[in-house]
This record gives sequence, structure tokens and C-alpha cells, in this order.
Amino acid sequence: MVQQGWLVWCGERYEVAGVTGKKKKLLIVGNGMAAGRLLDELIKRDVSGFEVTVIGDERQGSYNRIMLSPVLAGETDVPAIIGKPSSWYRDRGIRFVSGVQVKAVERERKCVLTSEGNRLRYDHLILAVGSRPAKIPAENQQLNNIYSFRTLRDVDRLLNVARFHDRQSRKTDTDALVIGGGLLGLEAAYGLALKGLRVTLVHRSGWLLNRQLDKTAGGYLQRVLEEKNIRFILNDEVARFSGSHELKSAELKSGQSLSCKLCVIATGITPNKELGLAAGLKGARGVAVNPYMATSDEDISAIGECVEFKGETFGLVEPIWQQCITLAERLCNNIKLPFENTPVPTKLKVSGVNLFSAGDFITTDEHRELVYRDDKAGIYRKLLLRDNRIVGAVLFGDARDGQDYFTMLSEKKDVSKIAPFLLMGRAFYQDSDQQQDSDGAVAA
Ligand SMILES: Cc1cc2nc3c(=O)[nH]c(=O)nc-3n(C[C@H](O)[C@H](O)[C@H](O)COP(=O)(O)OP(=O)(O)OC[C@H]3O[C@@H](n4cnc5c(N)ncnc54)[C@H](O)[C@@H]3O)c2cc1C
Repeated sequence: MVQQGWLVWCGERYEVAGVTGKKKKLLIVGNGMAAGRLLDELIKRDVSGFEVTVIGDERQGSYNRIMLSPVLAGETDVPAIIGKPSSWYRDRGIRFVSGVQVKAVERERKCVLTSEGNRLRYDHLILAVGSRPAKIPAENQQLNNIYSFRTLRDVDRLLNVARFHDRQSRKTDTDALVIGGGLLGLEAAYGLALKGLRVTLVHRSGWLLNRQLDKTAGGYLQRVLEEKNIRFILNDEVARFSGSHELKSAELKSGQSLSCKLCVIATGITPNKELGLAAGLKGARGVAVNPYMATSDEDISAIGECVEFKGETFGLVEPIWQQCITLAERLCNNIKLPFENTPVPTKLKVSGVNLFSAGDFITTDEHRELVYRDDKAGIYRKLLLRDNRIVGAVLFGDARDGQDYFTMLSEKKDVSKIAPFLLMGRAFYQDSDQQQDSDGAVAA
């Protein structure tokens, strides 16, 4: 039998809720991709010992944030990316508190305080509060039509501007400014350009995707995106925005002024660590966790982009899925499966752009560099070797062998015998590898 209600004690509202019996209260704060995947992993195992509550400040159930770029580009729609509608939680006996923010964790009382002034108790708390868009130091960011690119709400607003542009089309040009030449900025620029907006992207580094690609590959990428009607200004930053209420222009540090009616700031992410750190949990860049996703308080775990593990934070889902499995194993089966932060390859969700990057991407004296380059065809393939092992791969234009190289990199395979064939494609290096094996077998 489920009891639900509120107890007012010393002027404070406490929740009285729970399944009678000995179920532990498992409270998940944040209902993004990490929470969604954790719920799947918990349900796959035995979650009957827990009464699960999820509380999130977005209205929707957990959705596929990765797919916001294809939604903006018009390649899919919003319903297709909502992985867990409200009925999903209801059908599985999970309590979902939507559109409510957790303001504080009160560890001594083992409860959280919500934006509505209520207190929810927990036996075990999981922080899955993600991150937020990084801020830039430009002036006048309060003007209308300056957006982030993080949530369904952001994309909804951007699509509204694009729809308005569509209605006005041919009468005026809508100039859109995107700040940031990383994965998110490029995907935002591509989506807006597809909507027919005139897009300029300002990036403070000397080439695009400078954290994943070398300068040559960044240049190839720029060329392909210019053909998709995106204009680039590199080595520059926005100093201030201008307009009365509505955005009208942006002035760059170089002094150049750009007319724009819409701006998307996509310069990186900042982990939402404050909730955990204000409660006294250890951490610096994020909430610190051990290899089992436990924080410095044994009754609190953390997963996703709010986490710091061995000094590293996270911005891609692949390692976060591993964190969810580790935590589900510990909570449901009491199994200690350590999380390991392994390298993840980079992909860009822009149709017609084939790129792959994993591991090291800037050549140094320590590397042996193998390069194939065809400027006219726009093909660039670079492998970096150290001690006869692949430690980095950058592919542009033809990324077919990326996964193979990544496997060799992850497995630390000795490629000394196949190195001359590696860039020629799978047929060559596999043949040659098998040849070496059979030669070896004969010799033995
Ligand atoms: C446009 C876009 C494209 C992306 N593309 C890729 C990609 O191609 N590949 C890839 O690997 N990754 C991609 N990512 C990154 C990926 O989406 C994130 O790594 C992932 O969403 C992180 O999951 P999370 O649960 O930690 O954070 P989130 O998904 O952000 O979830 C955190 C949730 O917690 C809520 N919250 C925060 N504070 C509170 C609070 N105090 N109380 C209640 N709720 C709170 C937030 O509103 C949010 O709903 C992309 C991200 C974006 C924005």
C-alpha cells in the first residue's frame, strides 16, 4: 500500500510518502540522459528493494539530448526524441516529479529541499544534474534573441525564430551568429543554415574543432561547411552585443561589427557541481566520485556531466553509460564493477561530413606520424604511433577505417609489421596482418 502526504513539523513541510514495508528510498536528482539510462539499468536488474523517485527541473521525461541537433536541422522531431514520457514512469511504479528544482541537499536530515519549499527524504541519493552552458564575458547578454543550445526549450525558441524567418523570407535576411567552433557550435550553425538563415560562426581558436582535430583537418572541415553556407571568423571573440531590447549586432574584439538578429552561444559546458559541493561533498571541477560512482558521502552517488573522476569531467554519453552500469551493479547486486574512463572517438552530426578523431591529434616529437592527404578530393588521414602502437587517429573525408583504428588504439595493438599498409585501407592492412600471422606460424 502506498501512503502519500505531507507532514508540517516546526514550520517545515516534509514528505510522508512511501510504500509500506522495508523499501529504501532511492532519490535521483536531475532527469537527463544519465538518469534515463540509470533507470533502464536499474530496471534490467532487481530494483524491487527500492522505492524510486526522480526529480527534474525540465518538464519532459528524460529525452535524447544528443538529438537536439537533428531536431534543429529538421531531420527529426521532438516526439521522436522523448525516450520516457510520463506514462513510462507511471507504468513502472517510478515517481516522477517534473519541473521542480532541488535547491539544497541536507545531509544530516537525509533530505533534499525543492524549489517549492518541500523536503523529500532519501536513503540513497543520486546526483545526476548534468552541466550548463559555459558563460562568455561579452557585455549585454540580457538582450532578447541570445540563446544557449542545451535543452528542448532552447531548440524550441530557435525553431520559432527560424519559422519567423521563413514567413519573412525573401523580404529580409536573418543574420544568425553562432559563438563557438566546437561540436555543439558547428551543429547549431549547420541546423540554422539549413533553415535558410545567414550564419556566421565566430571561434576564438585558429581552426575548428581544435580540441579534436589538427589544423589541417580543421581547415578541410571549414571548407566543407563553407559550402553549406556557413561563414567563419577565427581567432576572434565577441566583446559586446548591441540593441535596445532586441539583439541587433555584435562587436568583436578585433573591432569588426556583425549585424545579427539571433545568437547562439555554444562555447562549452560547466558541470553543475554546486548542489553537491554546497552540501559539503568533495570535488573541484565536479562532484568527486570513486570508481564505483560513490561520492565522499556513502549515502550519495553521482553520475554524468556533474561528476569529476580522477580530475576529469565528461561531455559525451559513452563514458556516462558505463557509469550508469557501474552504479546499477552496486545498488542492485552489490557488485563492485569499477568505472574506467576510456577514450571516446569524436563524431560530428552534420550530414555529408565524414570525420573521425580519437586519442592524440597534434603531432609532437614523440610521435611517428603516418599521413595520407589529397587536397582536391578533401581526404586527410593521419595516424600517430608511439612505441609501435596507434595513439591517435584523425580522418577527414573518408572515415571508414576509424573504428578499426580505434580498436587497435584501445587494444594497444603492436602495429609495427602492418604500419606501411595502415593508411591504405582495411583490405591492405588486414591481408598483410594475416600474412604476417601465417608466416609467423610457418616459421614457428
Ligand atoms: C545539442 C547537443 C548535442 C549533443 N550531442 C552529443 C553527441 O553527439 N554525442 C555525445 O556523446 N554527447 C552529445 N551531447 C552531450 C550529451 O547530451 C550529454 O553528455 C548528456 O546529456 C549528459 O547527461 P547528464 O544526465 O549528465 O546531463 P543532462 O542530460 O543535462 O541532464 C541533467 C538534468 O538535470 C537537470 N537539473 C540540473 N540541476 C537540477 C536541479 N538542481 N534540480 C533538478 N534538476 C536539475 C537539468 O535540467 C537536466 O535536465 C550533446 C549535447 C547537446 C546539448
